[in-house]
Amino acid sequence: MKYDVVVVGAGIAGPIVARNVAKAGFSVLLIDKKPAIGTPKQCAEGISMTVFKKYDIPYDRRYINREIYGAKLYSPSGYELELRYKEASGVILERKVFDKMLAYYAAKAGADVLARTEAVDVIKKGGRVAGIKAKHEDEPVEIYADVIVAADGVESKIARKAGINTYAPPHEFDSSYEYEMLIEGFDPDLIHLWFGNEVAPRGYVWVFPKDEDRANVGIGINSDNPQTAKYYLDKWLKENNIPAKKLLEINVGVVPVGGFVKELAKDNVVVVGDAARQVNPMHGGGMAEAMEAGTIASKWIVKALEEENISLLQNYTKEWWETDGKRLEKVLKVRKVTEKLTDEDLDLFIQVLGSADAEKIASGNYGGVIKALLKHPKVILSPRRIKLLRELL
Ligand SMILES: Cc1cc2nc3c(=O)[nH]c(=O)nc-3n(C[C@H](O)[C@H](O)[C@H](O)COP(=O)(O)OP(=O)(O)OC[C@H]3O[C@@H](n4cnc5c(N)ncnc54)[C@H](O)[C@@H]3O)c2cc1C
Repeated sequence: MKYDVVVVGAGIAGPIVARNVAKAGFSVLLIDKKPAIGTPKQCAEGISMTVFKKYDIPYDRRYINREIYGAKLYSPSGYELELRYKEASGVILERKVFDKMLAYYAAKAGADVLARTEAVDVIKKGGRVAGIKAKHEDEPVEIYADVIVAADGVESKIARKAGINTYAPPHEFDSSYEYEMLIEGFDPDLIHLWFGNEVAPRGYVWVFPKDEDRANVGIGINSDNPQTAKYYLDKWLKENNIPAKKLLEINVGVVPVGGFVKELAKDNVVVVGDAARQVNPMHGGGMAEAMEAGTIASKWIVKALEEENISLLQNYTKEWWETDGKRLEKVLKVRKVTEKLTDEDLDLFIQVLGSADAEKIASGNYGGVIKALLKHPKVILSPRRIKLLRELL
């Protein structure tokens, strides 16, 4: 088989690249090892409303479980902070349908799509990667392509096999555990997040409603923690008297929350999405980041093919690092500071912050909020808190 571009992985990043490159008239093959694209999912399925227009994705009720109007944050001692909008700010997707439909949009744009096709190695010829060795329904196949895209998620092996350094230490990953379950007593129009070093070290517990009485209930903690994410999630459910006997799904996953891959294109190989650790290090959301990286990558793949100049792929690395990379590096800095917060700090901040402050933080505008916090008496009296907050400025 020979294509202009082969894309390994039909999660979020892969289909966006495949669709955009096929739209430009080039031959594309999108492969995924899953027999049913999108299944199983490893995701809490929350995404901002802005992505549909921005990345030209139809707002299709088939993959939208619920519209969400804001968030509620809970501190270790039970202080609450609510952020509620009049208009829906995000949605909880049905990723099993969403991923499959993204692959369908790529197919409609002209790409070939093969499920149950696992890339096992790269083919090297004359010192460069000439294609992919794969197994299609257990039969070996060789797929040759001018450009190879590694969109194969957090456990990516294709970029590594092509010689791109994707290593990160365990501390730069979160372990996640999630139940899709029946749960009552939470406002289903908001997402709910609980913080605390005893609740979820470095991370948070989430309830993302998919229905009035059904939600993704999950947790993310630092991967190098001696206890498992399941231990903390079950403990939280027990402490909150939430029965865990109506579990519709159990998902386990790893989220890269730092150390973005430096070299995103090497010769004719490109790495996108979780495979490049292009995830928001603060909340672990990576779908929008995968869409953004996929959009930048596909722009440069099309240019490189049109101008028959593979070295133009390097502009993907450059553009991503100058735009989203720069933004996410700042978020990573904030995450490293928040890792040092005690439960008392979390209580204080959630107690004194108002919804207007939370809105600013949600939009990435930390400066004004931190300056206001620095004037609070409980902050002024604590040199440690002053130091931590100043690190964020
Ligand atoms: C528990 C959990 C909750 C999360 N919640 C959210 C959330 O609410 N919102 C959000 O934005 N993000 C969330 N994320 C992160 C989000 O799921 C990822 O950032 C996003 O899916 C990245 O997309 P991707 O295309 O890079 O990779 P993936 O979606 O992981 O897709 C990679 C694809 O590659 C395929 N693949 C892998 N290896 C091969 C191979 N060798 N050959 C062929 N195919 C292969 C896989 O089958 C998979 O379909 C969550 C993650 C976890 C684990």
